[in-house]
Amino acid sequence: MKLKNSRSVFYLFAAMIISSVVIGSYCKTKFVPISDANAAETSNTTESTTSVKSEYADVDVDMELVKVGEHSWYVQGQAGIATDNAGFISNAGVIITDAGVVLFDALGTPSLANKLLKKIREKTDKPIVKVVVSHYHADHIYGLQVFKELGAEIIAPDGVYEYIDSEVASSRLEERQFSLEPWVNENTFIVKPDTILDATEKFTVGNVNFTIEVIGKAHSDGDLTLFVENDRVLYTGDILFEGRVPFIGNNTKHWLETLQNMETQQVKAVVPGHGPAAENPQQAITLTREYLAFMREKMGEAVEEMLDFDEAYKAVDWSKYEKLPAFEAANRRNAFQVYLSMEEESE
Ligand SMILES: [Zn+2]
Repeated sequence: MKLKNSRSVFYLFAAMIISSVVIGSYCKTKFVPISDANAAETSNTTESTTSVKSEYADVDVDMELVKVGEHSWYVQGQAGIATDNAGFISNAGVIITDAGVVLFDALGTPSLANKLLKKIREKTDKPIVKVVVSHYHADHIYGLQVFKELGAEIIAPDGVYEYIDSEVASSRLEERQFSLEPWVNENTFIVKPDTILDATEKFTVGNVNFTIEVIGKAHSDGDLTLFVENDRVLYTGDILFEGRVPFIGNNTKHWLETLQNMETQQVKAVVPGHGPAAENPQQAITLTREYLAFMREKMGEAVEEMLDFDEAYKAVDWSKYEKLPAFEAANRRNAFQVYLSMEEESE
């Protein structure tokens, strides 16, 4: 209890200091490295860590660029929890055009992003012009600083500031600086987006046309997808999971509706946020869609019958999902999230 209180006081202080630094420098810079804010608190240095090209600890994981279209590639993280495989658990997309490279998500540590950069450099020396971020969760964004440093424009969906400004974001970073050290360390910070989108956006880089679809609150406080028109490849981020139990976030109602309405006829390949790319988009949507529908049905019934959560959870037959990777780590927490939101929806 004592520890909890002192932690709360610490977070309150940290939040006050960070927000005052953020507000103070907001007009001058587009993004504020959180590590800089912390540094300013503990010493009087005004040196910016972003003015020099940083070095990143080497990370020994298998990472191969897999081709899914003429210009479209991705690297696939392993199924697992956040700190497995040196944090390489999520996917990142790479689209190589004749005028530059567009990325989709930035992996879970700066070291992984730096490794991805080296892989890209084996294919092309074109500049990294944009990073389109599916959503702001740690496993997709800690690599952003590597590409920001190279001058890439960071594009994210409306809603991400609910995460960036949250206590969860700062405590998670603090935890990962410990659990994913040295790949996440005191120089790791959350890069704020240069551009926030709240509606569909089309753009062209070189010879390739792109469409960003803003989904809104679904898996997280803000999600988007990227469609590479020339290749008909759809990068979905975490609104789709392949071959593992999804991590359920915010709004399963809107999320489920999005998947039910998803137009996949002209899609040739789908690259989810976790798991392998799928050549059968409809099939790829099925797992996440059915899982969400099942959760909503079971937890909805429990709320209606006014069962408490433990009782409700025990009563459900989970056999359809319990052999999937990440079931142990995610399923109970997911069910609880859905239980709470079904309660809210029923009010
Ligand atoms: Zn993820």
